[in-house]
Amino acid sequence: MADCIFCKIIAGEIPSDKVYEDEDILAFRDIQPQAKVHVLVVPKSHFATLAEMDEEQAELVRKCMVKIPEIAKSLGLSNGYRLIINQGKDAGQTVHHLHIHILGGQDMGEKML
Ligand code: 5GP
Ligand code: ZN
Repeated sequence: MADCIFCKIIAGEIPSDKVYEDEDILAFRDIQPQAKVHVLVVPKSHFATLAEMDEEQAELVRKCMVKIPEIAKSLGLSNGYRLIINQGKDAGQTVHHLHIHILGGQDMGEKML
């Protein structure tokens, strides 16, 4: 997608601090971290929300979920971490390429979730 910042990161047109990459998935550090460790995991196929995902894209999301424990371990998140997937306006989704936030590296404290 021409206008998508995450597609540009996947294509290498915008630099990112990568923590994991394979043919299906990219994980990189969030530019405005909301926790000591804040990484975004993205499927290398553009779709905005789960509602728009096709079967092949669903398989990429499955691969993301399977890989996340390994990525979390490599980030040193041995005490746990939080995953967030914002979906649309009310959730505050600002980048319309599906992504999974990994947040951790600290006690996440009293929050909504
Ligand atoms: P959302 O609010 O859509 O769930 O999350 C989008 C996230 O992408 C935000 O946490 C924001 O800081 C991050 N982000 C936006 N632009 C860039 C960028 O160019 N590089 C990186 N690494 N993260 C970005
Ligand atoms: Zn995209």
